[in-house]
Amino acid sequence: MWFFFFIVTLVALVALHFWWRAKFLAQQNQTMEEMEIFQKQTQQTSVDAKAQQQILFNSMLEGLLLLDRNKKIYLANRAFTEFFNLKADLRGKTLVEVLRLHELDDLLQRVETEQQVFGHEFKLPDLGDRWLQVNASVITNSANEREGTILVFHDLTRLKQLERQREEFVANVSHELRTPLSLIKGYTETLLDGARNNPEVAERFLKIIERNTNRLDLLIQDLLTISALESGRMKLELAPVNLHSLAEKIFFDLGSKAETKTISLVNEMPELTAKGDTNRLDQVLANLVDNAIKYGRVNGSVIVGGKKLPKGGVEISVRDDGPGIPPEAIDRVFERFYRVDKARSRDQGGTGLGLSIVKHIVHAHGGEVWVESELGKGATFFFTLSTVENIASQ
Ligand code: ADP
Repeated sequence: MWFFFFIVTLVALVALHFWWRAKFLAQQNQTMEEMEIFQKQTQQTSVDAKAQQQILFNSMLEGLLLLDRNKKIYLANRAFTEFFNLKADLRGKTLVEVLRLHELDDLLQRVETEQQVFGHEFKLPDLGDRWLQVNASVITNSANEREGTILVFHDLTRLKQLERQREEFVANVSHELRTPLSLIKGYTETLLDGARNNPEVAERFLKIIERNTNRLDLLIQDLLTISALESGRMKLELAPVNLHSLAEKIFFDLGSKAETKTISLVNEMPELTAKGDTNRLDQVLANLVDNAIKYGRVNGSVIVGGKKLPKGGVEISVRDDGPGIPPEAIDRVFERFYRVDKARSRDQGGTGLGLSIVKHIVHAHGGEVWVESELGKGATFFFTLSTVENIASQ
């Protein structure tokens, strides 16, 4: 009896052990599975965070470079690789391995000693006229130990271009003002020194003074127009403009100037109506016709024409049969103060700003302006404008 009882208890204990063991193993498996899921989630979160960080860094306009404590690249964003035209994966390499730029090597050495360098500017060799500004700083941890270096690069190219344009503009304006001013000054002094006592000489000198005063006046008017156009202060009063009548009016205004060179003015403009600011379009066409007369040949002709464009809008042309424009100057004649023949332009009372004003006004109307020319056979200036229907359908 006791033996039977003992056997039953033993069997029960063994069964309990296996049941408990199976349960324990199942629980252990579940815990392991849960741990695996948790680990995967944590890894995913860290991958997501890294990807987001990368997207953020790559969307920056500034170039960003992070070096670790061994001066190896830890992170370089897209702007940085684009600035320096780098393609390969840079991580883990030293700066010297990827870029041979002594400016940057010197900068890194300065950061080592000064801890921070702000506003260091340099021009990139062999990569166009690109200017960069770098701010660099050593990164330290809470124990003030050096962890790495951060460098932020700003593209200064546009700013430098504007600075250079402004300097050139000031130099050009000063130069343009100096010539008539020194003539006015010189002839006034000669008159005061006694030339005024000879009426014939006095009149000649006064005429020179008057001509140069007019030139100054014209230059200042043109400068004010350019400044108003460039700053966007000039508001266009848009209305339908009859282009045939506009050409007729300009021919009337410039008729006597054309006569002095026996140039015939031909109005081939059809009855077209454009949408524009009458006074400004008058200025554009007058400038082009005036140039065609100024630079055209004696006994020649100036023809104003126009046509509707298939894609909408109109194209206006001013053609002369003068000496034309050399190919190397074609793209430059619309620049401020650019002249093919400086002496000739000044002789004709030109300010060198006419075509720049034309370009600004046409662009303000949303049109295009260009010139075609064959040396010795004349030049044709073209510009486009929207028509009334064209604007209404937009
Ligand atoms: P400018 O006051 O000197 O005429 P513009 O800006 O009107 O200044 O013209 C710039 C230059 O383009 C002129 O100096 C001249 O050399 C050249 N140019 C303009 N129009 C003509 C033309 N119809 N034929 C030949 N050259 C021209």
